[in-house]
Amino acid sequence: PLALLAEPSLLKTDALINGEWVAGSSRFDVNDPATGLKLADVANLGAEHTHHAIVAANKAWPAWRAKTAKERAAILMKWFALMHAHADDLARIMTAEQGKPLAEAKGEVGYGASFLEWFAEEAKRVYGETIPTTDGNKRYVIIKQPIGVCAAITPWNFPIAMITRKVAPALAAGCPVVIKPAEATPLSALAVAELAQRAGMPAGVLNVVTADAAQSIEVGKVLCSSDVVRHLSFTGSTEVGRILMQQCAPTVKKLSLELGGNAPFIVFDDADLDSAAEGAAISKYRNSGQTCVCTNRFYVQDSVYDTFIEKLAAKAAAIKVGNGFEAGINQGPMIDDQAIAKVEDHVADALAKGAKVVVGGQRIGDRFYTPTVLADVTPEMKVSKEETFGPVAPVFRFSTEAEAIELANATEFGLASYFYSRDIGRIFRVGEALEYGMVGINTGLISVAEVPFGGVKQSGLGREGSHHGMDDYVEVKYLCLGDI
Ligand code: ADP
Repeated sequence: PLALLAEPSLLKTDALINGEWVAGSSRFDVNDPATGLKLADVANLGAEHTHHAIVAANKAWPAWRAKTAKERAAILMKWFALMHAHADDLARIMTAEQGKPLAEAKGEVGYGASFLEWFAEEAKRVYGETIPTTDGNKRYVIIKQPIGVCAAITPWNFPIAMITRKVAPALAAGCPVVIKPAEATPLSALAVAELAQRAGMPAGVLNVVTADAAQSIEVGKVLCSSDVVRHLSFTGSTEVGRILMQQCAPTVKKLSLELGGNAPFIVFDDADLDSAAEGAAISKYRNSGQTCVCTNRFYVQDSVYDTFIEKLAAKAAAIKVGNGFEAGINQGPMIDDQAIAKVEDHVADALAKGAKVVVGGQRIGDRFYTPTVLADVTPEMKVSKEETFGPVAPVFRFSTEAEAIELANATEFGLASYFYSRDIGRIFRVGEALEYGMVGINTGLISVAEVPFGGVKQSGLGREGSHHGMDDYVEVKYLCLGDI
């Protein structure tokens, strides 16, 4: 599929350190999850190259920090324009290595680019403060300064957007970055880095260290233990997030973590059921159910349970599964064998404990799984407790609003949640009661660059996007002026 790129020079397979492409002494395979075929071999770097990248970033920092916000914004805006100009090629690269349908990949390119535009604009608004004095002889002034070298470890489910969401605010604030992209999707990261080079990013300001699964652990250790790296941003599993947090403790590094979710989706009896089924399908099945804000558990009020299931099943049945490059396909493969094995395990566990398949429940070929709806599910099943990260919709029953809130909150996670209701009082009550960083009300799609994305409880720390997204990349400094 990569032979069809309009501009083959966007296909980079070497890492980027200090403005130079680095081949390294070993390589690792990147495969197409739809076919299992090898797409490319990519530089497999380790601890030594990670040190080089950190040193390069630190060296590039003073000049980058010294640029005006407007100058940094101009580079980000040029990068944004280049991403749009090359959207077709970026989408092709993404579909090839990640599997999502081409139209969805192109949507992510636009979403990913939107963070560059947003933070280019925000760069100019990193305002300080003056505080009314309590001592006539003194004045209190607050300034905000870039935190320093930032590291970003990113996942494969949004190979471009999870990078730009982290690096755009860092770069805008005046920080250089070292990125360690997911081993499954380094080609998207490198293509976007090539466009950053073309946009005029100075050498060392943006570095990409590629590595396979085993080497990623080594790279992660160096990034976490470095006292030059002042901030680590990670999106991925809660399990790995905890490891990184521990590794960052000795250097008391600032952390932004966007970890696992276990999103509930509540349908009340006063909901518009057609709209709820539509929102449910979007929130559940996009990216084959492989997003951290994908619904994991549906809770439907007794009196509308059967009707909602019928409507959701019709939506699921209409989804066409196949290779993301083919026309008309709206669900691609799962990322790898492990991912589909987990989906099969969760469905088998539910069926063994009494659930029934309303639609789907089948594996096609190696890594494709049909959009599935499960009825008669109970809290004892794995689908209720663990993130399935696949196209499976378990539908639970509830009777009262209080019960729905209790069930929805009964998890250590707190990223996204959703509910459908037309009652304004209920909308406020439930919106306030859900222990989640984000609540979609009468919608299944909530992510845009302008809003704060992030979780509570064990779903993470900090917020990405919105004007709050800049906070993690600046330090607040207090200047106390005496002898006035
Ligand atoms: P997922 O479950 O979404 O695959 P992971 O949390 O396993 O997410 O991986 C997300 C990112 O974290 C990837 O870039 C991966 O290489 C990296 N990663 C995984 N384990 C470690 C680790 N122990 N140290 C550093 N990075 C890691």
